[in-house]
Amino acid sequence: MAAPGQNQGPVTELVIASLWREPTEYIGRWKKLSRLAGQLFTAKCYDSKNAVQRIYLDHNATTPLLPAVIDRMTAVLREEFGNPSSVHHFGQQAKAAVDDARSQVADLVGADPSEVLFTSGGTEGDNIAIRGAAEALEGTRRKHLVASAIEHEAVLNTLKALARRGWRTTLLPVDQSGIVSPAALREALAEDTALVSVMHANNEIGTIQPVFELARLAHERGALFHTDAVQSAGKIPVNVKELGVDMLSLSAHKFYGPKGVGALWIRRGLRVLPLMTGGRQERSRRAGTENVPGIVGMGVAAAIAAGKMENEGRRLAALRDRLETGILRAVPGTAVNGSPDHRVPNTTNISFDRVEAESLLIALDLEGVAVSTGSACSSGTLEPSHVLKAMGFNAHRTQNSIRFSLGGGNTESEIDRLIAVLPGIVEKLRSLTRAPARA
Ligand code: PLP
Repeated sequence: MAAPGQNQGPVTELVIASLWREPTEYIGRWKKLSRLAGQLFTAKCYDSKNAVQRIYLDHNATTPLLPAVIDRMTAVLREEFGNPSSVHHFGQQAKAAVDDARSQVADLVGADPSEVLFTSGGTEGDNIAIRGAAEALEGTRRKHLVASAIEHEAVLNTLKALARRGWRTTLLPVDQSGIVSPAALREALAEDTALVSVMHANNEIGTIQPVFELARLAHERGALFHTDAVQSAGKIPVNVKELGVDMLSLSAHKFYGPKGVGALWIRRGLRVLPLMTGGRQERSRRAGTENVPGIVGMGVAAAIAAGKMENEGRRLAALRDRLETGILRAVPGTAVNGSPDHRVPNTTNISFDRVEAESLLIALDLEGVAVSTGSACSSGTLEPSHVLKAMGFNAHRTQNSIRFSLGGGNTESEIDRLIAVLPGIVEKLRSLTRAPARA
């Protein structure tokens, strides 16, 4: 094995990075990775001269910054360093930059800029929406919170935290297509429901939820409605008025903006208590000096996403369909998870019978292809995807699924390369497992 720091293959890098972070947690993973790497790729050797061509198919995890975003952020970092709360020229210059970005982000979701508040990302937006609205209703008769079972952890764990503080919570089931039914919400709503939170598009399978109808039902019972639009904004049209929601959260790094910045749209007049107390920034709803470069980067990314969305959506849907049909045709024992009709154009989630998703992910990484599993890995074991579990899939299928999420840089030739290498990889992995073929 090469000494640490030298250019090594991805598995070695992954193992070293893992051991460095959590020595005991990753010991199981280390064993598995080394066994897998040894069995699969003994003949392969990667070094700086023989670098693999990298194909990034994990845009739902994060996207690269657009050059225009980097340029504008760099200009702000270098020259517009003022504090937007300062009265002098430098402060007003920074304030103008933040205001411009606020308008750009508002335009992306059909909102009024005064209703947009900047956050540190999607997680904070979800937290302010749910905790802030719940806290504002504390002491009233409304003590019930509802979310779908396929929400991001930012919503699910916020509900769990509020449940520990006495809130009653209900998770809405989804069907095998990964869509929340209005009937399920109608059944869950009660006289004391304070808030319903259902995401616009799911991060693992890409399904688009019937937010307008769900929000209407919630409102009929006097409850508020929040939607996490982190995975839909910039990919499909998002309009706060057409969706009929009260709050909507966004994250810049999902549409080629910087990480650590997002926004929450709050309908004018809605009372939402701040999570952080301090200065009067963001109309006293989010204290703390604004992340001006991040906010400006988010604004530029939002404007570009709005301009490109239609054509780019069409292009990505065609690429995604090419990938999907190519895989289903070339690899036996594969199936698409979630509704093929109601989903964002860049995402497909495919299960591979008799293949552990994490092993496939690593094998693909060795080939230069970056994808993701919905399952979280902890303590060397695979946690089944809570989304696929909620869809009613068995333990096997919740652990053998891979998410492919496409984006700006992807091309047909990349997709074709993946389709060309995948059957061999899957066959090899299957030959290493003893499980019998499933009917
Ligand atoms: N909500 C959804 C649906 C997401 O996919 C993510 C990120 O993966 C988040 C919230 C969290 O966003 P952030 O990373 O900006 O905190």
